[in-house]
Order: sequence, then C-alpha cells, then structure tokens
Amino acid sequence: MTVRHHDGIHFEIEGGTRIVADARSAVGDTNIVSHAHADHTFRTAPETVVCSPETAAIAEARTGTGFEFVDSVPGIELIPAGHVVGSSAALIDGANGRRYCYTGDFSIRDRCFLEGFDPHAVDADVLVMETTYGLPTYRFPPQESLESEVRDWIRDNGDRPLVCFGYSLGRAQKLQWLAREATEREILVSPSVREVNRAIESATDLSFPAREFDAEEGDLENLTDEILVVPSNQSRADWIDRLVERTDALKAGFSGWAVDDSFRYRGGYDVTFPLTDHCDFDELLETVRAIDPDRVYTTHGSDEAFADLLETEYGYRARPLKRDQTMLEEFC
Ligand SMILES: [Zn+2]
Repeated sequence: MTVRHHDGIHFEIEGGTRIVADARSAVGDTNIVSHAHADHTFRTAPETVVCSPETAAIAEARTGTGFEFVDSVPGIELIPAGHVVGSSAALIDGANGRRYCYTGDFSIRDRCFLEGFDPHAVDADVLVMETTYGLPTYRFPPQESLESEVRDWIRDNGDRPLVCFGYSLGRAQKLQWLAREATEREILVSPSVREVNRAIESATDLSFPAREFDAEEGDLENLTDEILVVPSNQSRADWIDRLVERTDALKAGFSGWAVDDSFRYRGGYDVTFPLTDHCDFDELLETVRAIDPDRVYTTHGSDEAFADLLETEYGYRARPLKRDQTMLEEFC
C-alpha cells in the first residue's frame, strides 16, 4: 500500500487498485467523499461514490448533479467523523491485514445536535488525519461553556439584529440551533444556508425553522431584533456594511481561528467565538493516543509541526503527507 496526497488522498493497494478520497477529479477505482464541503467533493461525479446518505443528499443539493452512492464496499467501512452532518471517516483494509483510518475533517466533540468522532472505537495500524489546528496554541474552551457563551451573547443583545457568520454547511446549522435554544426571535438565513438546511432536513430528523432572505430584494429593510445566519465569506460584503449602518446590528464570527486576534480584525467582527467543527490540539493528540497506530500521516494546517511533535515528544512514527510525495510504508 502507498499513500499519496494528490488532489485528494490516494491509497494504492499492491496489485494496482486505487482508492481515492476527497478529490476534485475522482479518478480512483473506488472514490470516497468524506463530507460535502466544496474542497472535499468532486467536480464531475464518478460512476459510484462511497459516502453516507446524508453527504450524498447535501452534495447533490450543492452541486446540482445527482450521482449513485453506496455507504460501504468490501474492504472499506465508513464511520461518523463528527465534523458536519453526514461526515465520515473511512476504515480501509490494506495488504497483509493492515488497516488504514482516513479521518477526513473530523471533531471528537459532541456539539449541538452532532455526535463527535469516537477514536476509542477505531482499530487501525495507519492513521491519516487532518491537522488544521495542530499547534498547542489552538486549545478551545469546553464545548458546554462555549455554547452557553454564545446563547448568553444572543440573549444579552436582544434589542438589535445579530449577524452570525459561519460556513453554510456546518457552523450555520449550529448557529441556528444555538439561536433557537437561546430565544424565540426570528432567524433569517441566506439562500445558500437555506439550501443546506433543506438537504439536511430531507436526509435526517433534524429541522431548522428559519426564513430565507434576499439581501437585494429589500427583505432586510425593517430589521429590529432578528438573528441572521450568513456564510462567512460575506463578512466584509457591502450589503453587510449598509445593514450595520442602518440597523446597528452586531457582527459575530465563529471559528477556531478566533483564538488569534487577527481573525476578528479580518472579518470586521464585533465579537468572536472559537466555535469550530475541527479538533483542537489536545483532541488531535487524544485521537492519536486512542487509536495508537504504528504510523501517522498528517494533512492540512499544521501538518509538519504536528507530525514533528508526535515524533519528538510522543514517540509516534509520523510524517506530513506533502502534496505529490508518495509514502511507501516501508521507508517510513
Ligand atoms: Zn470540512
């Protein structure tokens, strides 16, 4: 088996079978989609995709194209990754009885309506993990206190509109959830958030009662105390500036990057919360210890620093999975 990072993660089993996960061009004999975030889904659908039913529903809604999917094939098992609705880690059988765990994006925390990934239930020899927040500076408060801080902030600011920014898939639903727990004020969502809400509602028992707004159509002219949930890439948009000017709305940003002051300035936020759908540093470490693999490959974010720490401080054999660099198990 070789492992390679090249437009997704490629696992090549001796004999030539290629399993490709999270690639834009799904060129594998078997293609896995761990979750429906745009940077993890294909551009053109392959014949069959291995993914969860929820990921299929959301990916179909977002890409506008239908595709065939199965949630397991011989030698590949999907398990919940706790990142967003439908997100899965993959357990892949390699040669000589060795087992690979590919996490995709993941979080081990239970959050709002989502259960975290359980590394204690994983039996694998090789762990391929994302390390977005793989530096010791990224340690986030306990989830319970984070969620109650968000609810308190919503309640404490009951006399003005609140604009909450988060990814359309993931943070946006958790923000709607927390807002609903905190208050009965009306929740307004942008069209892209509504689209993901609908896809999730069609594939699960969850529901996100919110009204869709169109910023260009005057839907936001008479705001008083509504809670808006808006994709984070809109935080500096002109219509947001005009809205804040007109209504005295507060802007809130939600991300693990919020532990850096620069996150607040970059987004022009009044307040930020380190609410994330990824593991913090301690949780990444807990994952490695729980699975206790004999080899770790890291991708994304602090991949080098985290692999280095695993080797020097914790005695694991670890390497960053650099793009286009093939990792043969033998030479590590
Ligand atoms: Zn993701």
